[in-house]
Amino acid sequence: QRWTVMLNEFSPEELSRYSRHMNLAEVGPEGQKKLKKAKVLIVGAGGLGSPIALYLAAAGVGTLGIVDFDIVDESNLQRQVLYSVDQVGRSKAESAKERLLQLNPHIDVFIYKEALSSKNAHIIKDYDLVLDGTDNFPTRYLVNDACFLFGKPNVYGSIFRFDGQVSVFNYQDGPCYRCLYPSPPPEGLIPNCAEGGVLGVLPGIIGTIQVNEAIKIILGKGKPLKGRFLLFDALGMTFDEMKAKRDPECALCGDNPTIKELNDVKHVCGTLKYDEISVWELKDHSDFVLVDVRETYEREIVKLEGALHIPLKDFNERMSELDPEKEIIVHCKSGQRSGKACEQLIENNFKKVKNLKGGICAWVENIDQGLTNY
Ligand code: ZN
Repeated sequence: QRWTVMLNEFSPEELSRYSRHMNLAEVGPEGQKKLKKAKVLIVGAGGLGSPIALYLAAAGVGTLGIVDFDIVDESNLQRQVLYSVDQVGRSKAESAKERLLQLNPHIDVFIYKEALSSKNAHIIKDYDLVLDGTDNFPTRYLVNDACFLFGKPNVYGSIFRFDGQVSVFNYQDGPCYRCLYPSPPPEGLIPNCAEGGVLGVLPGIIGTIQVNEAIKIILGKGKPLKGRFLLFDALGMTFDEMKAKRDPECALCGDNPTIKELNDVKHVCGTLKYDEISVWELKDHSDFVLVDVRETYEREIVKLEGALHIPLKDFNERMSELDPEKEIIVHCKSGQRSGKACEQLIENNFKKVKNLKGGICAWVENIDQGLTNY
């Protein structure tokens, strides 16, 4: 009788889709209903976020949120299996939503095309748990702190070269990330994936383990990785496990906490010396100087209104034309050359410097399709 009532909550298509879950005693209609009701936030739709989003959607997790301000780059396709060639240059969050709804139209997907910051981290409150797919330390600490302050479990994963880590933080009185690593490493000490490289399949392995833990938490079954820190070595093909205890001295979750509110993420990428801004943020931004460091022939193809033109090759001698007190946003075609210009500005004591992520191509692709792309 109870099962019939349960089953009525699913459409015939859903019953067929989830039949392999329904047949499992540990899931069954009750568990599938829990999955359908669950709201999961995925922070970062990159290497880890790709398998995380795909498997959560396929499993029938009813509400997914995706936070990612990035755009799909060709170099992402080696591991970010959520995306395809025709999505290069487009918003990751939008592309992800499109793909996930193709995979499972019975779920809702909400997207946030912005970097997670202390200002928007409150979106975590709307979800039951968070899966951390970030690739940098400032955001990882922000996710950890926000999850603790808002009382949400944090399914953590990270990857580097051939090594991966997984754990479940802030769950049933277990430890948080700061209990193990009290504060972020000094900036620039640890390279990110772009600099250090990563084996393409590694985020697939680590991300699917995160999903496994998330599903167990939602179902209330099995033994989640709470208080346990899993270490995976892809070359040696070994899984090791460290005990992770809540630290009474922890500045966040300890007995006398000193961290009582969220601190801003200073840099979107832990190793960058300058900040980045997305084309969506730029659209609503005001009071800044826009600098175009491309060559003259590129500006004849397409240019942004009001941008000051200083080609990268002349940048060192001409940066004195810029006011160090003003916010300076630099762009080029795709964000590489403007990144170099940003570094030069920072070295010369310019304080408010931002690189336009994805360059003018991202602008044309996502904001003003009327312009020419090249
Ligand atoms: Zn802690």
